[in-house]
Amino acid sequence: MADGYESVPVVMTIAGSDSGGGAGIQADLKTFTALGCYGTSVVTALTAQNTQGVQGVHAIPPAFVEQQLTSVLSDIAVKAFKTGMLANAGVTATIAHTLRTSNAAPISLVCDPVCVSTSGHTLLEPDALATMVRDLFPLAALITPNKAEAELLISHTHPERPAIRSLDDMVGAAHALLELGPRAVLLKGGHLTVCMADARAAMAARPEVVLDRTGLLTENMEILLVVERDPEQAELVADVLCEAVEGGAVETTVFLRPRLESTSTHGTGCTLSAAIACGLARGETVVDAVRTAAAYTHDGIAASFPIAATQGHGPLNH
Ligand code: PLP
Repeated sequence: MADGYESVPVVMTIAGSDSGGGAGIQADLKTFTALGCYGTSVVTALTAQNTQGVQGVHAIPPAFVEQQLTSVLSDIAVKAFKTGMLANAGVTATIAHTLRTSNAAPISLVCDPVCVSTSGHTLLEPDALATMVRDLFPLAALITPNKAEAELLISHTHPERPAIRSLDDMVGAAHALLELGPRAVLLKGGHLTVCMADARAAMAARPEVVLDRTGLLTENMEILLVVERDPEQAELVADVLCEAVEGGAVETTVFLRPRLESTSTHGTGCTLSAAIACGLARGETVVDAVRTAAAYTHDGIAASFPIAATQGHGPLNH
């Protein structure tokens, strides 16, 4: 018999179902399979959803969420976890308690603090945010907020902090989010366009920040031509990773890649966090797992194709 645990790491998604197949559990399981991992799943909520938006949400009772989780953990050795849509405070508290007391502890957990869908539907009841911060963040190897989620989380502890408008703001916000208890923060910059000149200015202000340009080097010829025409002004996306290291220091890495214009971005955040969990399950460092996951997600957007007759937000291609 093959040594399955070693050759195929087991990963778990704890998230909502997207009936349209683009985000949530469905995106996570596709990602796990594409990246050579075995996927298990705990469903927190069912959504009636398509490329146009979310038409309905049915949260699973916390006791049944717990039953799914304990059933899998009592039988299968899960190497890494990710959480996505958690629906409400009851489900969130139950997951945190079960993970904390399970035989899988200490765990490798990527927490994607999903709050609102791109189409504007609430995926986490507002009063559950405090439960997520208090109970789940201290268990997390990494949290992966986007700009809106970061601003919402920071407004609880730093109400005076202004909105995130620049790469320098992103670095400051990622540091502030680290104070909420996770071991690392990946602040995703997909909703902000930056250029190389901005990156250089942010670096000059913070010499300790490491610039990771791997994403720029692996691009296709079209992007390279744009960069060659005016390298300083080409439109880029920056993700900021802040990691707490031994001795209380913080290591900061800025990942740069070309901006892709696409409406096929539904499930981008789900895919990224699922792919990072795969890297952690393989024993990669957080920096390496983020780099590989960002490339996978970027390629998924670049290779996407229209899935619906209507003009909604379609899925990535896995
Ligand atoms: N629906 C479900 C079930 C999800 O889990 C998520 C993200 O985690 C979304 C929708 C949000 O996807 P998007 O941000 O692409 O709207």
